[in-house]
Amino acid sequence: MPRSQNSAAQRAREAQQQAGGKYTALLRDAEDTKLPRAFAFRDLLAECSTSPQITVAWGYDPEYDIHGPQMFNSELMGGPVPYGTVLALAGALSQTEMDTALLVESHRRLESAVVSCDGRRFDLILTQEMIYELCRTPQCRHHPVEELDIPFCTDHLAERSAHELVRMASNWGHTRMEAGSNNPGNASTGPEGDQLVRAAVARATVARVLDRMLEACFGDLNLIDDMYWDADVAMAVRHGMDRERLRLEKVANTEISRIRKAAGNCAACGRTLSRHSPGWMVPPQFCSTNCAPATAP
Ligand SMILES: [Zn+2]
Ligand SMILES: [Zn+2]
Repeated sequence: MPRSQNSAAQRAREAQQQAGGKYTALLRDAEDTKLPRAFAFRDLLAECSTSPQITVAWGYDPEYDIHGPQMFNSELMGGPVPYGTVLALAGALSQTEMDTALLVESHRRLESAVVSCDGRRFDLILTQEMIYELCRTPQCRHHPVEELDIPFCTDHLAERSAHELVRMASNWGHTRMEAGSNNPGNASTGPEGDQLVRAAVARATVARVLDRMLEACFGDLNLIDDMYWDADVAMAVRHGMDRERLRLEKVANTEISRIRKAAGNCAACGRTLSRHSPGWMVPPQFCSTNCAPATAP
């Protein structure tokens, strides 16, 4: 029968067979290397949209009307995955190019799988149609302080370079300015701002992080009168900026005291660390600029 006369059902079956063959070949390649396995982001979406629904025995008591999510068997991922979980991932990666490689870091069958794509990492929940974004440090299972602007957990944030922390502070300040645009004097960098400041303490870059974050959140101090024609609003913004700076300075000083108390002695010369900081430009585990390594910031 000429192809043009095939029924829709036949064409669907052919497409399914072709797709299945393609995924089996991909799976063969992936199994050679076991985990982590990698494939193009678009291949997972194609597999999700062409694979038939399967029934998973969740073991629910039939007396209760409980149903699991609609699942398909993902040969790429290595087991059953809810369609909705892949769609949630597609939503999170909507700005990502379709050919970007997606890496499966780990997979616990019918529980969860960790994937990374385009520098971001996600925990795919395989029992519900749900994903969580993870810290961008490979293998870390913690959540980031903030998914897009501060994409590391509190532990790994402190390991980032001073340059990266300043950039994150600037991005987060802009986000908070936009969120508080109805009442710019009340803007706040919140607990996420606290975490950035604590990480900046370890890198001895508190002053730069504070300046950039507050400028992004409230505006350039010298331009506030031009930004807000209403003098009352301009005054509220200046006041809000002072209030937020004072709050974050306290966070920094508390963190410095905490680190110095825990360390006890200077990491270089062994001298007892006083509870009082020698300043923000010295990493708190050192007694002075003389002892701090030149590369510390
Ligand atoms: Zn982490
Ligand atoms: Zn010292």
